[in-house]
Amino acid sequence: MNAQPDTTGGSPADCLFCKINQGTIPAEKVFENDGLFAIRDINPQAPTHLLIIPKKHITTLLDLQTADEELIGSIYTTANQIAKAEGVDRSGFRVVANCGSDGGQSVYHIHFHLLGGRPLHWPPG
Ligand code: AMP
Ligand code: ZN
Repeated sequence: MNAQPDTTGGSPADCLFCKINQGTIPAEKVFENDGLFAIRDINPQAPTHLLIIPKKHITTLLDLQTADEELIGSIYTTANQIAKAEGVDRSGFRVVANCGSDGGQSVYHIHFHLLGGRPLHWPPG
């Protein structure tokens, strides 16, 4: 039995976040533009826990190309907007991307967690 995650990311046809983007799996979308969308995490680890997800199927941070720099920059300007809309801008929040096995990545389509609404520990566990 193979308990390792699928680090290949499979094809976009097999990918959870590509399916959510296409609407074949439901999720609560809170934001969308041409390049990305944001949903509420199904298993929230803080009162505010959103995932900001590029529409392009990129498996991990290690697969980013120079051509993706504008897209990844837009993750942070979107996080800025969402933090304000969710009311965590004044209290503070964290944006984090998990990469690979030790990083705790479980879905192999790049995404950025936006967490807030409670004090977050550092260093993380
Ligand atoms: P990571 O472990 O960093 O790869 O993050 C994947 C995140 O996706 C986890 O926080 C999961 O709770 C979340 N997740 C998994 N399935 C869904 C889903 N169907 N809708 C929303 N979030 C999900
Ligand atoms: Zn995907």
